Amino acid sequence: MINVHRMTDTFMDLVQIDSVSREESRLAAYLKKQLDLLGAETVFDGSAPQTGSDTGNLIARVKGSNDRAPLLFSAHMDTVEPGRGIKPVLTNGRITSDGTTILGADDKSAIAILLEMLRVLKESGKPHPPMEFVFSTCEEIGLLGAKHLDWSLISARQGYVLDTRDPDGLVTRAPSANRLTFTVVGRDAHAGSAPEKGINAILIAARAIATLDLGRLDAETTCNLGVIKGGDAINIVPKKVQVDGEVRSHDDDKLAQVTQRMIDAFQAAATSYPDRGDDDLPYVSVDVHPDFQRTHIPDHHAVVRMAFKAAERLNRPLRLQVAGGGSDANVFFQQGINTGVLGTGMTDVHSVREYVDVADMVKSCEMVLEVTAIYQESTDYDPS
Ligand SMILES: [Zn+2]
Repeated sequence: MINVHRMTDTFMDLVQIDSVSREESRLAAYLKKQLDLLGAETVFDGSAPQTGSDTGNLIARVKGSNDRAPLLFSAHMDTVEPGRGIKPVLTNGRITSDGTTILGADDKSAIAILLEMLRVLKESGKPHPPMEFVFSTCEEIGLLGAKHLDWSLISARQGYVLDTRDPDGLVTRAPSANRLTFTVVGRDAHAGSAPEKGINAILIAARAIATLDLGRLDAETTCNLGVIKGGDAINIVPKKVQVDGEVRSHDDDKLAQVTQRMIDAFQAAATSYPDRGDDDLPYVSVDVHPDFQRTHIPDHHAVVRMAFKAAERLNRPLRLQVAGGGSDANVFFQQGINTGVLGTGMTDVHSVREYVDVADMVKSCEMVLEVTAIYQESTDYDPS
């Protein structure tokens, strides 16, 4: 039986341990202790030097009643800012922060739910399958923990990441994304006495941007320019401006096309500049960084079938969902590990208005317990 008070208390404890990205070690130590008490075998991988975190990813293995492939469950340990000194407030079944910080339900609601699942399984004494848990670092700063995970420690081929809102949802599709940085270089000059000697980098960037379509390009593709920085003073022709943006698509061909279109727009604005000097100015340098790669779990996959069966047994709906963003599930998918993303009830994440309803965490915990039971009962869901 799920112990609602215990799960709530665990959540309140977890959010009071600060763990902004790259500073997850205190939370990781707490979590390792709880997992050890539950009889799990825990190990940290060696990803810290690559991620810049003060800890590696925490991996836990829980033995089952058989030797089948373990089921994977995953949550991330880090939070965004402002995420220090969080004071959770529980009112009428809803947990918020005190309004000055985020709450950290993203993703500590998931950690509390997974700990509660293990406690329920241990208390029930019922047979359950082998399980692996990945508690990752640095998810919020580019999925860095998952990207540098030591895969030799993982034998699971399928499972669930708990890292979205809807407790009746299962995310099986997420886009690929590229991050783009355009640096436009012109020439500085005094804006009043010698403007003709200058090449205005802001003007060139503006011409490029004016030719671009931004926003939702079609049902599966979006693009954005989100940051622009440049110039030094109002009386200086600006020599440099940097524009940062991104493209996301569920179709990798479209991702490549839109990325190229943006690059072409900036380069055309520079090369078509009328008075190009001998110094090859203006020019644009472009940095394209693949941020994450698409996830597309087929509807007939065991991970999807188990979730539907669990929802049916719980007498609840289940909605298949498409994510607009990436999560650790994208990285698992690229490694051939199919992980659907389940919701925990976390709402308005990455804001000081973030909250979670205890009732939603209970629903999420029921869901993970049920899929675990379904996997235990039948070999129909073994990874192929
Ligand atoms: Zn998250």
